[in-house]
Amino acid sequence: MLENKDQQRTSLGDLGEFGLIDHLTKHFDITHQSTIKGIGDDAAVLAFPDEQIVVTTDLLVEGVHFDLSYMPLKHLGYKAVMVNLSDVYAMNASASQITVSIAVSNRFPLEALEDLYLGIQTACKNYKIDLIGGDTTSSNVGLVISITAIGHVSAQNVTSRSNAKPNDLLVVTGDLGGAYMGLQILEREKEVFKVNPNSQPDLEQYSYIVERQLKPEARKDIVALFASLEIFPTAMIDISDGLSSEILHICKNSMVGCNLYEEKIPLDPQVISTCEEFDIDSTTIALSGGEDYELLFTISQDDYSKIKANPNFTVIGHMTQQSEGAHLITRANTKIPIVARGWNALQSED
Ligand code: ADP
Ligand code: MG
Repeated sequence: MLENKDQQRTSLGDLGEFGLIDHLTKHFDITHQSTIKGIGDDAAVLAFPDEQIVVTTDLLVEGVHFDLSYMPLKHLGYKAVMVNLSDVYAMNASASQITVSIAVSNRFPLEALEDLYLGIQTACKNYKIDLIGGDTTSSNVGLVISITAIGHVSAQNVTSRSNAKPNDLLVVTGDLGGAYMGLQILEREKEVFKVNPNSQPDLEQYSYIVERQLKPEARKDIVALFASLEIFPTAMIDISDGLSSEILHICKNSMVGCNLYEEKIPLDPQVISTCEEFDIDSTTIALSGGEDYELLFTISQDDYSKIKANPNFTVIGHMTQQSEGAHLITRANTKIPIVARGWNALQSED
C-alpha cells in the first residue's frame, strides 16, 4: 500500500521508447482469431466477420481519477482495463482487444511501469483480451492512462440505453456502494499515515469494500448468463457514476419514467456497517457512490421467471410512463424524485 523507498529504480531514459514498449509488452499473448496483426506495425488489423464492432475509450488522470498513495500501480492497470471492459459488456458484447496509451513523467522508474503492465496483463489473461497497440509519451506532471477496448456482438443482440418500456422491470447485478465506501476507508488511512508514517492499517474488516475500490471486476459473466438464460435486456448500462445517474440515463434515452424501491437496493453488510461508522445514509451511497461496475438493465415482465431465483440479480423497481417521472419510493413509503446525484429530499411529493 505504501511506497517502498528501497525498491530498484531504473530510469526510463535508459531504454529508449522502442526498448520500453518492447519490454512492457513482450509477455502478452495474442489469443483471438480476430486479431490479424497486433503490436509492431503502424496499426493493428482486426477482422470480425458478420458481427458489429463495439468501441469504447476511457481516460484516467493521476490526481483526478486515481491517487497513487493508496492505489498500487498493479491495481491501477487492472482497474483501467475493467473500466473499459465494463462498457463493452454493457452493450451485451464480447470484449476481445484493447489498446493502452500512457503519458508518464520521469518521476516514474521502469519498475513502476512494469507493475502497471503486470496489472494490465493479469486483466488480459483473466478476461481473455489481446493487447494490440497503444502509444507512449512523456508527461510533465503525473501519469495519464487511456485504454480503448474493442468488442463484438451480433446485430440483434446489441443492448442500448434506449429501449426500456413502461412496466419493464429494473434489475441490477451484485451489490452497490462498496467501491465508494472502500475509497472512504483508503482516504481515511491516508490521513492517518500522514500523521503517523509507522502506522500499519488493519483493513481486515473492510476487505470486501476496499477490494471493490482497488480491484473491481467487470461483469463478463453476466453477458454469458444472459445468453444461457435467453434474456435480452430492453436497455442496459454499467454503473460507473452511481445508480441514480444511470437510471436517469435509461429514463431519458428510453423516454420512460421509473419507480425505484429503496428497500430493494442490494447492499453488502460491510457497506451498511461502514456507512453507520461514517454516519452516512447507505441509500445515498448506493445512489451516488459510483465505480461499482455492476450492470443495470431492464427486462420485459415476461422474462421475470428467468431471473427470479438467480442470486446475481435483484429487481429494484420498474419503468413507468415518462410523464410519471423518476422516483425513489422510500422505506417510509414516500415518493421522492431521483436527481443525478442521490435524490432531492426537499422535494417530497406527498
Ligand atoms: P508510431 O510511431 O507508429 O505511433 P509507436 O512507436 O508509438 O508507433 O508504437 C510502436 C508499436 O507499439 C505500435 O504497434 C503501437 O501500437 C505499440 N505501442 C506503443 N505504445 C504502446 C503502449 N504503451 N502499450 C502497448 N503498445 C504500445
Ligand atoms: Mg505512437
